[in-house]
Amino acid sequence: MHYISTRGGVAPVGFADAVMMGLGTDGGLLVPAALPELDAATLRDWAALPFQALALAVLTPFVGDEIPRDDLAGLIERSYAGFAHPEVTPLKEAAGRTYLELFHGPTAAFKDVALQLLGNVFEYLLARDGGTLNILGATSGDTGSAAIYGVRGKPRINIFILHPQGRVSPVQERQMTTVLDANVHNIAVRGTFDDCQHLVKALFRDLPFKDRHHLGAVNSINWLRILAQTVYYFHAWGRISGGDPARKVSFAVPTGNFGDVFAGWLARRMGLPIDRLVIATNRNDILTRFVATGEYAKGEVFQTLSPAMDIQVASNFERYLYFLLGEDPAAVREKLGDLDRTGSLRVDAAQLRQVQADFGAAAVSDAETLAQIRSTYAASGYILCPHTAVGAAASADAPDTVVLATAHPAKFVDAVREAIGREAPPPPSLQGLMDKPVRCAELDASEAALRAHIDATLGG
Ligand SMILES: *Cc1c(COP(=O)(O)O)cnc(C)c1O
Repeated sequence: MHYISTRGGVAPVGFADAVMMGLGTDGGLLVPAALPELDAATLRDWAALPFQALALAVLTPFVGDEIPRDDLAGLIERSYAGFAHPEVTPLKEAAGRTYLELFHGPTAAFKDVALQLLGNVFEYLLARDGGTLNILGATSGDTGSAAIYGVRGKPRINIFILHPQGRVSPVQERQMTTVLDANVHNIAVRGTFDDCQHLVKALFRDLPFKDRHHLGAVNSINWLRILAQTVYYFHAWGRISGGDPARKVSFAVPTGNFGDVFAGWLARRMGLPIDRLVIATNRNDILTRFVATGEYAKGEVFQTLSPAMDIQVASNFERYLYFLLGEDPAAVREKLGDLDRTGSLRVDAAQLRQVQADFGAAAVSDAETLAQIRSTYAASGYILCPHTAVGAAASADAPDTVVLATAHPAKFVDAVREAIGREAPPPPSLQGLMDKPVRCAELDASEAALRAHIDATLGG
């Protein structure tokens, strides 16, 4: 299988190059030149597979012959061995709803499902093909720790993660800074998350610096992350349908960068019988407005109780736009040009009908988020994380919709306590964090300071 860029400026590359490239060298996102189509017999066969075997089946056409089957199976096996539940992503019934629990990985959020695999695939490709990778990223919470746990201790890889000092939750901060492996470099920036992102972007734009240090990203634009996330849609469908292709399942997806919900869209496009896909947003509702009006218009970023979704411009949206516009890179470039120039882009009436056929969408306030946590707890004793609560509230009109439970509630102590007056018991991975030793550098929000820090750490 070959991968091309949504903006048309990358010569077709194979799976390994697509994974190592991350963002397309033309600034676009990599997508398969053609998508596999699954028939009913395949879906039936897959329905009973355990998660790991299913992941191997789903990934195989996308990987092609670039990783031998046994090696790929081994990478998948290792990636999910550290999950605390034998089903990896189990379903849980509570208060009349079904939750797809995605938080049994080492950092208790769904990003582990993709980043554990991505880390192992990076390690494998670097060992095989040579080279080193120095990951640079900014985090407002969940991504940083999941990325760190994905690559900690791996040879040929360093990771630098910037977080805004004092502005991530204490649990999230400790999850990052208690990882003492020599290849993990946490940086607390005296500034905001935006400052952190600007610093990272500035260094990526400096191509000589980027090349000299083999800088790479792990943000949600890496194609393998999307692919890994499609697996749990197949898994959940198999468990619910028993493999009956006539049985459609709907999902509500707490959405920030559009990665997770795009994975669901991709699964459906490949033939998985998904009925409704609900984009659940918090007050940062650019995607909900887009589904309602066809206009994708940047707004102000608000802080909410579901911080992993406090995002205005969703980085994976461009992939959907590419398919919506008929896989036409020139049309994508034109729309993105509009967005750059005017702060918004608009699709036509026919395209809007397609958007509305593809997705439902609802924005959920903090008050509704708290009320959802409260009512679910009162009815069942089950505690939702605030992101998951957004998904449940956004799909309350259709209770048979499966809600993606994207994080463990113990990661969001304040919101949960505000809702129900108590904390969720932490899973083993979150216990004792406050008592562990930490390592973290502190820097001003300055490009020069960050450059100097990376130069000094990597020698160069
Ligand atoms: C990252 C994250 C999301 C949003 O996922 P996207 O792929 O960015 O849409 C939702 N919930 C939690 C807990 C997250 O960490």
